[in-house]
Amino acid sequence: MTSPTTVGRLAYDVESVRRDFPILSRTMRGKPLAFLDNAASSQKPRVVIDAERRVYEEHYANIHRGVYEFSMRSTEAFEKARGSVQRLLNARSSREIVFTRGTTESINLVAATYGRKHVGPRDEVLISAMEHHSNIVPWQMLCDERGATLRVAPIDASGAIVLPELERLIGPRTRIISVAHVSNALGTVNPVEKIVSIARAHAHGVRVLVDGAQAVPRLPVDVQRLGADFYAFSGHKAYGPSGVGVLYGRLELLEEMPPYQGGGDMILSVTFGKTIYNEVPHKFEAGTPNIAGTIALGAAAEYLMELGLERVDAYETELLGYATERLSSVPGIDFIGTAEKKAGVISFVLEGIHPHDIGTILDYEGIAIRTGHHCAQPVMDRFGVPATARASLGIYNTREEIDRLHAGLLKVRETFR
Ligand code: PMP
Repeated sequence: MTSPTTVGRLAYDVESVRRDFPILSRTMRGKPLAFLDNAASSQKPRVVIDAERRVYEEHYANIHRGVYEFSMRSTEAFEKARGSVQRLLNARSSREIVFTRGTTESINLVAATYGRKHVGPRDEVLISAMEHHSNIVPWQMLCDERGATLRVAPIDASGAIVLPELERLIGPRTRIISVAHVSNALGTVNPVEKIVSIARAHAHGVRVLVDGAQAVPRLPVDVQRLGADFYAFSGHKAYGPSGVGVLYGRLELLEEMPPYQGGGDMILSVTFGKTIYNEVPHKFEAGTPNIAGTIALGAAAEYLMELGLERVDAYETELLGYATERLSSVPGIDFIGTAEKKAGVISFVLEGIHPHDIGTILDYEGIAIRTGHHCAQPVMDRFGVPATARASLGIYNTREEIDRLHAGLLKVRETFR
């Protein structure tokens, strides 16, 4: 047995974390699995798998309407998950937690409701040059529809937002600023608190949305401290199931926003003449949701809180440092994304070798990484590459896996000599 790693003041027993994830004992291509594609989606701990299974085995029924025991138990478990997410994000109220299908839907929800109401002709929406397509396209669609303009704050050669430029781009017509907390393509951690305070200082009524898809699984997130108006994340990257995600919104904003989709559960009463909408957050949750998945997301939130996100952050930062140093010795490697403040995402290219070839050779070593544009084509354009290879860390990754990645990359080099 290995002893727990000490990261700063915090002990982190990665072997014990690994035992929580059944899939990690599997092999891939006959080799022990080294799963380094966590930015795309993470693996699930037993508590999450069990939580989902137990719903179906023990008390599954539709929620918010049945008068019988199983429906009430399912409703209770669903709402308990909302409470777990509230605590994970330190939101003031569980009413500020809206369940969605994921980050993409959360951002579309804000664009389609707050955006349609408050963004008019010649108004502006400001994003950064490092955004995932899901934090670009919904705003383009909104701007096209409303005759508004999308502005883009540039990033520097390290992959950090150029803050004075962002500040310069905020004007009297800026209505929404939407930025990633952590970039999935570069690993940059953005100074969200600072961006919020710049926004508050410069423009009246500008709202800030933070895409937290890569941050929630990696950093302690406190929406009250960040001060953002909206915060979005996906369950599947945070060790929960796919098909369920979260939109946090400040209560007073959610209250005044029009609904997103119409249907069952989001109403209090319906006649052909008039519909009265349900209270927040149900107003934004039309139709039968992913009941078991949401309950399992609650289990993932509890799991992360029990592990402690300060501890996760410290462990991943330490592992990122190790990986960056180790991989630096691979001949011809060039890191894309070298910002001072980074989370566990390592994007790189190898001179003369297509990223897809890197991914394919590593696959045969049992190592899962991602290759491609990572749904961030403008980032690829910014750095003048068609694609990158990306190793992204999770709570269960080890130095030994990084050593295997290093050896795998040397093998890639050998193959293409
Ligand atoms: N934003 C970021 C930064 C992401 O990494 C991702 C997923 N790669 C998304 C948004 C979209 O998340 P989802 O596909 O779960 O909606």
